[in-house]
Amino acid sequence: MTDKYDVVVIGAGPAGYTAAIRCAQLGLNTACIDKSLGESGDPTLGGTCLNWGCIPSKALLDVSHKFAEARDSFKGFGIKTGKVSVDIKTVMQRKTEVVAKLTGGISALFKANGVIALAGTGRLLTGPRVEYAPHDGAAQVLESTHVILAPGSVSTQIEPTPLDGEFIVDSTGALEFDSVPATLGVIGAGVIGLELGSVWGRFGSDVVVLEALDDFLPMCDRRIARDAKKLLEAQGLDIRMGARVVGSKVENGSVEVRYQDNEGEHSVHVDKLIVGVGRIPYTEGLLAPDCGVNLDERGFLYVNDLCATDAPHVYAVGDAVRGPMLAHKGMDEGVMVAERLAGQKTMVNYDCVPSVIYTHPEVAWVGRTEAELKSDGEKFNVGTFPFAASGRALAAHDSDGMVKVIADAETDRILGVHILGPQASELIAQAVIAMEFNGSAEDLGLTMFAHPSLSEAVHEAALGVAGHAVHMVNRKKRN
Ligand code: FAD
Ligand code: AMP
Repeated sequence: MTDKYDVVVIGAGPAGYTAAIRCAQLGLNTACIDKSLGESGDPTLGGTCLNWGCIPSKALLDVSHKFAEARDSFKGFGIKTGKVSVDIKTVMQRKTEVVAKLTGGISALFKANGVIALAGTGRLLTGPRVEYAPHDGAAQVLESTHVILAPGSVSTQIEPTPLDGEFIVDSTGALEFDSVPATLGVIGAGVIGLELGSVWGRFGSDVVVLEALDDFLPMCDRRIARDAKKLLEAQGLDIRMGARVVGSKVENGSVEVRYQDNEGEHSVHVDKLIVGVGRIPYTEGLLAPDCGVNLDERGFLYVNDLCATDAPHVYAVGDAVRGPMLAHKGMDEGVMVAERLAGQKTMVNYDCVPSVIYTHPEVAWVGRTEAELKSDGEKFNVGTFPFAASGRALAAHDSDGMVKVIADAETDRILGVHILGPQASELIAQAVIAMEFNGSAEDLGLTMFAHPSLSEAVHEAALGVAGHAVHMVNRKKRN
């Protein structure tokens, strides 16, 4: 280990590890400090995403979906099984193995690219210099030409429901239950609340979701949000809107949750309670008082469009800076900063960040909604296509949902695509690519899609913008 680097990255989540790998690929002498300890108590790379976020949640979502299908749908397909049951211990072991494989993969990538991994805590000093406090050993000061801050985020906590790690947990605790709670409360009908509510609901919990807002998924297309809510309710999630949690009491092995809605105060009793009310940037202990980096009014590390902080040669990326708290957004910022340090002109297109909710069906979108465009006074055309008219979706017995393509009324440029449906997380990439290339709905319509495939729904919705969809009756006049 040298104590002089070209780049020191603090944080090895998707934003930090991607920045570090790309810096090293570009010939910069790079170290990456991370303080996380994994389940085994050993240092782990990959941050929230790999250890307690995207990956373990998807491992549980995928298994619980297979389980629910086997239990509820196989019979209708003509597949006979005995009684289908779940062994949560094995489910959790497998999740741990997936996480270990991927975090080990980052370690291997660091080695292969020559990134020095430093296990411990980093703190930005003036200079820029970084104080590195290893888990075991004395702190030392690292000199570096540039520093990239990627400290990520942590769960928001709320006063009415203090976490106790057993009955009241955050998303991390909800990924580690050792049995299926008979009854489960989820505070927050956001992305994380709905995904974790789905996991445990599929495994057999009676789930009640309490959401303070009146509007379900306010960031989504209104029709898609409405349909998604109906489908999730049909799966058994009891979603109560306008329900603000105001108190809780753990007693006799269960939790009493008190909430208020416009009819007054109510309470529910649940075996476990997940607090899924969002995440906040994690900057505790990160900045020496005179380091020159400022926070914005919401506590995020303040950066410009190119992720430069107010301190010379110090950059910040990922969940700790403005923009959606998504792994891929952080990764792209990491690449941008690394490539700019190497003299390239890379930028992040913040208008083309896809979002996904991995419920079933999945919800995915990119770009703007009709409501946003209307309030901006913009003129647009809309094409939709239901999966109920997709041969592939029907064959797969997975035909709930729709694709909506929104295009500028004058130029036909695609402004937004919104999908509720099977594999929406994969389908949305087609829209992102089209938008990244400034594509029009006609461009997508003139592109050939394999038949039968779910992607044809994207094709047909794009054709529908001009009233040309072939496999459904167009409401617009053909020309
Ligand atoms: P993080 O992944 O939080 O990593 C930051 C790292 O920095 C951590 O390891 C932390 O310990 C370390 N660190 C912080 N401060 C210091 C310091 N001073 N010294 C040393 N180390 C430090 N996003 C998606 O895009 N798709 C999903 O499906 C998805 N699912 C999610 C599911 C759940 C349950 C949760 C909680 C999140 C999910 N997210 C998802 C969000 C995603 O995990 C984050 O957007 C992503 O991890 C942010 O990456 P990051 O690198 O900015 O920070
Ligand atoms: P997200 O930020 O997408 O993870 O969503 C978190 C959700 O939690 C938001 O929709 C908030 O409205 C909701 N929320 C926050 N505090 C409370 C509360 N006390 N009771 C119920 N819902 C809450």
